Amino acid sequence: MIIEKRCYKFRIKNGPIVDITPNIIESIIPFLQKNTTDREACGLLVGYKNKMSGNITINNLSLPGKTDTRNRVFCQIKDRIHRLFLKNQTLSKNYYIGNWHTHPQEIPVPSSTDIVEWNTVLQKDKTSCQYAFFLIFGNKDFKMWYGDYRTKCILEAEEMQRNNDLYIKE
Ligand SMILES: [Zn+2]
Repeated sequence: MIIEKRCYKFRIKNGPIVDITPNIIESIIPFLQKNTTDREACGLLVGYKNKMSGNITINNLSLPGKTDTRNRVFCQIKDRIHRLFLKNQTLSKNYYIGNWHTHPQEIPVPSSTDIVEWNTVLQKDKTSCQYAFFLIFGNKDFKMWYGDYRTKCILEAEEMQRNNDLYIKE
């Protein structure tokens, strides 16, 4: 497995399809913790819901700022750059929809801290849709989890089936 600069499509159980645009992947790749001294990186995600299909597109992100707290196994958003990013994105009708961070693992597994933080997001933050999305990037793969505001459940999203370079139409 390798993280590719492409569009990724995930499926939410009994819910919409979620697209992650290639610029998201491209922007995060330089922050992957390939070296033993690389620190965790984190940021916010924005996107929108397609009125016709109900599908969700995650299409932009904020990158680590100078005053964020970052070490090998921890990252906390503190810099005002993230809030400014959200404000600017509303001009393009993109709204807060979740967050991303890196892990110094090949395949990312959420830590207990992650689960606590994601539940806090579900309690305190409002996104532009019924869900909040959480991406964790390991060195070899990334995964997406989503929290449902109605049920307060957090589940892993499944990448849709692909045949070579194409997603299979369902
Ligand atoms: Zn984590």
